[in-house]
Amino acid sequence: MKKYDYLVVGAGLYGAVFAQQAKKNGKSVLVIDKRPHIGGNVYTKRIEDIHVHVYGAHIFHTNDQEVWEYVNAFAEFNRFTNSPVANYRGELYSLPFNMYTFNQMWGVVTPQEAEEKILQQKREAGITEPKNLEEQAISLVGKDIYEKLIKGYTEKQWGRPCNELPAFIIQRLPVRFTFDNNYFNAKYQGIPIGGYTKMLENMLDGIEVRLNVDYLDEKEYWDALADKIVYTGAIDRYFDYRLGVLEYRSVRFETEVLDTPNFQGNAAVNYTDAETPYTRIIEHKWFEFGTQPKTVISREYSLEWKLGDEPYYPINNERNAKLYAEYKALADRENQVIFGGRLGEYKYYDMDAVIASSLQLCRREGLR
Ligand code: UDP
Repeated sequence: MKKYDYLVVGAGLYGAVFAQQAKKNGKSVLVIDKRPHIGGNVYTKRIEDIHVHVYGAHIFHTNDQEVWEYVNAFAEFNRFTNSPVANYRGELYSLPFNMYTFNQMWGVVTPQEAEEKILQQKREAGITEPKNLEEQAISLVGKDIYEKLIKGYTEKQWGRPCNELPAFIIQRLPVRFTFDNNYFNAKYQGIPIGGYTKMLENMLDGIEVRLNVDYLDEKEYWDALADKIVYTGAIDRYFDYRLGVLEYRSVRFETEVLDTPNFQGNAAVNYTDAETPYTRIIEHKWFEFGTQPKTVISREYSLEWKLGDEPYYPINNERNAKLYAEYKALADRENQVIFGGRLGEYKYYDMDAVIASSLQLCRREGLR
């Protein structure tokens, strides 16, 4: 006799949404995670009464009404709006690229002037059809902004030249001819009051969770406990890397408590030059308009990933796309196992898309 209807491997967003819906529908479910905490990479830890985003800043934003209603059932969201500041060798610029940025860069005052300036720089660069990130960036915002605000940051972030990177990475960022510093084009945005960990705890309320256990170390034991498995770990690791290793970018965070109430006056400051070794500094208290006497900051260093490091960003190139497709074909043949989430699907996922995808799986499983 099997004990559980579902075993969920991984207590991040994808796994927690699935587990929550399964339980709600009367299914028995066990969640396991190899880390000592729930939440996956959205995990927040309280330091000096500040919710620190331990695996990097996560700002919730979505256009999906269903997803927004879903998360609001487990947390109240504040009105935080992401407006990072770019620091280029001491010059400050507004992000994303908007009329404030164009004014700071060129002194232009009207949208027409800004558009003309960009068009002129695009023409000078001779770009008609952008083939890579560099050309895409120049054709969107011109050469000056590309050189001061994009090139250095992006090459630090991805560890390779902009003309060898796919254009879509930069299409994540809006370009606006209005005075609007909101980083996201999303209908809904905010940070869960009390931290993401609390939200995940609420989702997993009443569900059995075992931490510090690595599914693949004792796969047979865990497999015997459930009829079906939802696996949110790395897809290549599941198959013991038999076809090769999928590549990631990793990040190292240098987190410090400072005895001052305000270090940089904003949640995110991007260092967009090539020389500063970190890409950005996050001051966590500003996600929640903190009034604590101290502050916690994290410097973010982008790293080449090697097997055993924490994986963050999938590297979308031809080699990895092809390798993933091969693993996916293997995964499709695993009858009792469903692969999902950032690591299970090897995908540069925003949080809302992960939740939408997990809810979709619930539907396929007859749980909604
Ligand atoms: N980017 C940039 N300058 C910035 C911020 C972002 O050039 O100041 C580019 C960079 O290529 C980055 C991409 O935009 O990889 C996407 O940035 P986003 O902030 O969406 O990345 P994430 O928050 O996922 O790390």
